[in-house]
Amino acid sequence: MKKHNFYAGPSILSEYTINKTAEAVHNFADMGLSLLEISHRSKQFQAVMDEAQALVKELLNIPDGYSVLFLGGGASLQFCMVPMNLLATKAAYINTGTWATNAIKEARLFGDVEVVASSEDANFSYIPKDFTIPADVDYFHYTSNNTIYGTETRVDPDVNVPLVCDMSSDIFSRPIDVSKYSIIYAGAQKNLAPAGVTLVIVKDDALGKVERAIPTMLDYRTHIKKGSMFNTPPVLPIYSALMTLRYYKELGGIAEMEKLDLKKAGVLYDAIDSSKMFVGTVTDPADRSIMNVCFVMTPEFKELEKDFVSFCDERGIVGIKGHRSVGGFRASLYNAMPLESVEVLVDAMRDFEKKHS
Ligand SMILES: *Cc1c(COP(=O)(O)O)cnc(C)c1O
Repeated sequence: MKKHNFYAGPSILSEYTINKTAEAVHNFADMGLSLLEISHRSKQFQAVMDEAQALVKELLNIPDGYSVLFLGGGASLQFCMVPMNLLATKAAYINTGTWATNAIKEARLFGDVEVVASSEDANFSYIPKDFTIPADVDYFHYTSNNTIYGTETRVDPDVNVPLVCDMSSDIFSRPIDVSKYSIIYAGAQKNLAPAGVTLVIVKDDALGKVERAIPTMLDYRTHIKKGSMFNTPPVLPIYSALMTLRYYKELGGIAEMEKLDLKKAGVLYDAIDSSKMFVGTVTDPADRSIMNVCFVMTPEFKELEKDFVSFCDERGIVGIKGHRSVGGFRASLYNAMPLESVEVLVDAMRDFEKKHS
């Protein structure tokens, strides 16, 4: 039986992506060779890179003056590459969770970091709203979707300094105004491809403003100059990313993805809100993530949380155990997740509640 996959990352990919990747592993571009055993300099792979970059630009409506890169090292390497390339004296960060905390830690290695707001006081269960960004910072960094805590910022903020965003777990879930950003980065393993590649969108003229020596591989300009082919890129996840991007385009683009995502999240949040057993962990409904839905059982039923995980398991629902720093449950509803799987989860919640009331 095909499982209902609610894992947070690596996570569900479309069947289209997985099937097309499997085909290319056996016979890539009719070369009679596997994607895994050919040169990344072949014209067939160059075509993959070119189309993947072009489709990211098309789907996200990226204006001229930006480069699209596929880099190694995960989103976590961007925590250091961003300040290494942009931080001359001071940067501003907002702390909305574990990933933001990690990004702040790395930035401190390169200059002054002002944390303009934090929701750590309430275990990151909300997005701080009232804060001021000093006008003299080199950039402001935020995390659009807090994968572990289930909070999300779904508008591109207006700020008076260069803007940088970690969109690892919600990129391609809504149209974005790329022109507001200097750098957007996203580890691929949540809404794009298998682990091993990070999508980076960088505004070319944001670079070259720091004095420090930057190691070749960590300098965005190296990769921009060479079209993301300075060294051997992660060919397999890039190929899978291209398949996912084609799939998004086929489905009608990112505005269409957003409609489907809002619908799926709506079904699950409605079930949580109408339940006496389950309760959401995010305090303000406006901050609720449509990608990662976090919920727990009310104190009265708390001891049944373990049982619910096995109850789900019997129905082929996997990956809903919450992150250890929040507890309870987290259902990740990435783009590839079908509405039917969300309905199976909601039915399981209703049946479990009925059984115990
Ligand atoms: C998963 C995740 C990361 C970490 O990504 P890696 O590719 O494992 O380094 C960073 N930020 C966010 C928002 C994430 O969801």
